[in-house]
Amino acid sequence: ILKVEHLNKFYGDWQVLHDINFDLKKGEVVTLLGPSGSGKSTLIRTLNGLEPFRKGSIYFKGKKIDPTPKEWQKLRQEIGMVFQSYDLFPNLTVLDNILLAPTKVQGRNRADVKKEAMELLDRVDLADQANSYPRQLSGGQKQRIAIVRALAMHPELMLFDEVTASLDPEMVRGVLEIIKELSDRDHMTMIIVTHEMNFAAQIADRVLFLENGRILEETPGKQFFEHPQTARAAEFLSSME
Ligand code: ATP
Ligand code: MG
Repeated sequence: ILKVEHLNKFYGDWQVLHDINFDLKKGEVVTLLGPSGSGKSTLIRTLNGLEPFRKGSIYFKGKKIDPTPKEWQKLRQEIGMVFQSYDLFPNLTVLDNILLAPTKVQGRNRADVKKEAMELLDRVDLADQANSYPRQLSGGQKQRIAIVRALAMHPELMLFDEVTASLDPEMVRGVLEIIKELSDRDHMTMIIVTHEMNFAAQIADRVLFLENGRILEETPGKQFFEHPQTARAAEFLSSME
């Protein structure tokens, strides 16, 4: 569903991503791991058109992406992203946050989308908060809404960048459970950046380990956590324990 070829990215003269190559099959879950500053967020943002890239190609569903703002705007309907900071619109209720893009951007029928939004809210145990405003919710609740909002677009690929990093510990589990269920039940294709190693070990079909903007190793999930191929990855894992 996604293929990245010889992707290179620069901030000014400084190269942040070096010759990134990987692909992702439908239903697969890849986690991006690596030390702080290794380029995980930059890579995942590039895959959603939030960062321009200078060299290389990205293919989505077999088609080479023409990296224009207009093309990315279209693709963002199919590639959902959730960040560390929940970016809900503060002046809209939970339900209106979820309905906005499917009705305005995709032009879908409001009643249909609403029905589906309520089912999604029910699934994350937040149906009773449909008419609340974001400020009335906890961080963990807001993050669950942010996930629901992305899902309401019917994405084919979901990108998660440290979605639990700013949550209180007791909120983390609920959010991770939703992501796990998306994989187990919906076979959602996902790229996940996380510092939760137990979670990564449970969910990753494959791990891409980044350092200094390079993919140092690409290893099946189970194998990565038991026997990483590189000394750097082994060191990284022991530092995370
Ligand atoms: P973390 O685990 O801390 O989130 P990361 O792996 O996500 O780190 P990135 O945020 O992708 O790392 O950053 C990669 C490198 O690019 C870092 O050295 C960072 O300082 C640099 N960088 C990130 N954004 C910019 C920017 N807008 N301009 C210049 N340099 C940037
Ligand atoms: Mg980051």
